[in-house]
Amino acid sequence: MTGLFVRVALDHPLPALYDYRYPADAAPPSPGMLVRVPFGRRDAVGLICEVTAHSDVPAERLKSVEAVCTACPPLSEPWLALAAFAADYYQRGLGEVALPALPQALRDPSRWARLLAPQERYRLLAAGRDALPDALPARAQALRRLAAALVETGELDLADARALHPKAVATLDAWREAGWVEHRVIEFGAAAGSPAANAAGAADDADGIAVSVPTLSDEQADAVEAIAAARGFAPFLLHGVTGSGKTEVYLRALARLLDREPDAQALVLVPEINLTPQFEAAFRARFASLADDTIVTLHSGLAEGERARSWLAAHTGRARIVLGTRLAVLASLPRLAMIVVDEEHDPAYKQQEGLRYSARDLAVWRAKQLGLPVVLGSATPSLESWWQSEQGRYRRLTLSRRAVADAVLPAVRLIDLEEERRRGRASFEGLSGPLVAALKARVERGEQSLVFLNRRGYAPVLSCDACGWVAGCPRCSAYVVLHKPERTLRCHHCGWESRIPRACPDCGNVDIAPMGRGTQRVEEALATAVPGARVLRIDADSTRRKGSAQALFSDVHAGEVDILVGTQMIAKGHDFQRVSLVGVLNADNALFSHDFRAGERLFAQLMQVSGRAGRAGLPGEVLVQTRYPRHALYHALARHDYIGFANAQLAERRDAHLPPFVYQALLRAEGRTLEAALAFLQQAADALAGIPAAERVTAYDAVPMTIVKVMNVHRAQLLVESASRAALQATLREWQPALRALRGVLRWNLEVDPLDI
Ligand code: ADP
Ligand code: ZN
Ligand code: ZN
Repeated sequence: MTGLFVRVALDHPLPALYDYRYPADAAPPSPGMLVRVPFGRRDAVGLICEVTAHSDVPAERLKSVEAVCTACPPLSEPWLALAAFAADYYQRGLGEVALPALPQALRDPSRWARLLAPQERYRLLAAGRDALPDALPARAQALRRLAAALVETGELDLADARALHPKAVATLDAWREAGWVEHRVIEFGAAAGSPAANAAGAADDADGIAVSVPTLSDEQADAVEAIAAARGFAPFLLHGVTGSGKTEVYLRALARLLDREPDAQALVLVPEINLTPQFEAAFRARFASLADDTIVTLHSGLAEGERARSWLAAHTGRARIVLGTRLAVLASLPRLAMIVVDEEHDPAYKQQEGLRYSARDLAVWRAKQLGLPVVLGSATPSLESWWQSEQGRYRRLTLSRRAVADAVLPAVRLIDLEEERRRGRASFEGLSGPLVAALKARVERGEQSLVFLNRRGYAPVLSCDACGWVAGCPRCSAYVVLHKPERTLRCHHCGWESRIPRACPDCGNVDIAPMGRGTQRVEEALATAVPGARVLRIDADSTRRKGSAQALFSDVHAGEVDILVGTQMIAKGHDFQRVSLVGVLNADNALFSHDFRAGERLFAQLMQVSGRAGRAGLPGEVLVQTRYPRHALYHALARHDYIGFANAQLAERRDAHLPPFVYQALLRAEGRTLEAALAFLQQAADALAGIPAAERVTAYDAVPMTIVKVMNVHRAQLLVESASRAALQATLREWQPALRALRGVLRWNLEVDPLDI
């Protein structure tokens, strides 16, 4: 067939592209355009990857493109290449990667015409905040949803409001009449701004007008210079101790870039944007004179309309700085000129379902593809990145001291629990005497403390002393966690819940007892151990409601809390001004994990949480309760010795042939029975053995996963690895068709560079 045809990627697991006839009267086709096409019995949105004059598909089977999206520019060649690379590397279909990376509005042809239309927004006014909750009839569910969203976010996009309430316009107009909300219309791309004067680092000026911009330390200045001077692909590892002012380095380097290149764009990735409002605030304050949508955020917490708005601002080049979580690494940025990955070691950069990509790795790939600087920042770099810098592939920039004058790294003290016990010293509910004393002293001085333990709930196990019964999940091979405030037992793997039984279901003993401690139990214990202290708990349970984490953290910053207890959520990124003590409980478990990355993760977490103490000049102290005070990991922690720890770990990994010295992929299968899952993996291993490239690949035995049953589904995995990334990739590519032909399991997935094994 000849004529005009397009090859289209569709959101579908098969790697194939699909041919369609392209109508002669439509806008000229080009790769990167979105089209609506018939697919099976439905319509689908596809992405044009190629335009051709010839198709091998017989004319009678060839269908036509039905509509073309012309409202916004097509996706660029480099973006298509990024999607193609990610699809290839992570072993997925191109369409499966490219289409889910786009905001919903682009995947809905009925919305194409209005993509860049002016945006109508409703902002809640103080009068509305006071009146709204009381003014609504109790049964008006949609109204309540709308009001709740307004109260929570302060401002709503009309499209998002409509999604909450079909008659949103009439309602919002009535609220406007009442003086509760304000209506504004924002033209897309209106009010273009120019880079701010203070963005250029005004503090360096002799007259020093901009007080809010600090004078850089020598190390910071060197780092900024190095980044600003880079040309072409330039990967940097910014290794800066906690509180060393890495953010300031990013800000200055960005300011230099935006100043130098009038329409350059920068991508700044953070692990979890709703945990780092300070970070966003710092960017907005520094680049304050830029127009509204020159700094945009992209993360999964944004309402649909907001996210589309941010994405389009990036895609059209309006947004100069895109601040986002891992999904932002796939944003379309036609004038991308620099990438920053803050806290690059954070496991949150790894997507754990669907396309299991590492946003950090894709960021580096993008920088290489386009020839740009990429700055990976961390106090505890991943061993992968550290190894790159050891080999000189990433250039290391070091910030060895805290930025604020007088702020020093905290003193770390190990509390030997065995010795405490031997000497008969008092402890209360797992809180040792020295820790309680230190907490009391802080409360008396009006300073704040953090108590960190990585386990939420009240107790991880509920058991019967008389017969040995332990409360387990009926659907998973896991114990259920006791949640006291909710009076439930809850499975953390599948969400199963039940009431707490009054007596042992096996023997009737009424004396069933919680074993071990979670954050709820520690919160309760602290209230007793440190009378009068204002204790606040922050974990996934206490912050379930959207926006509540932010509210709780504001309470801490406002000084309304004496002791903050929580999981890793309290460890990350916060610049607490009045915290002078950090207590660490129950960290020992991770020392003996079967997962070879457990030590690396624990060390990073403890360095992070320790880093919350003494940031603003108050002398900081960290108390770690442990049964293994002589463990090398704690010793490195006490000396703040990341480098010693990292190099020792690397030596171990090298001896044991573990990443980063080998490359791994993990095939997981889920079956109705464990036998089915294992049989599937065995067949997969047989198929692998027949692939020539697999000569340089080792396949291990298929094994049940640690938590073998979740939601009545049995899970097993097969690890494959190679010292050659190319050999592993070639093998996986050939393995795919064989895997797709296998049957007998409910689901399977293949993960490249898995983090959890
Ligand atoms: P990191 O991300 O390295 O842990 P931050 O970027 O949060 O550190 O900076 C820690 C604190 O130091 C912040 O309060 C920041 O405003 C301050 N700071 C950064 N650079 C300087 C500087 N050159 N002089 C004074 N204070 C600084
Ligand atoms: Zn019993
Ligand atoms: Zn369960």
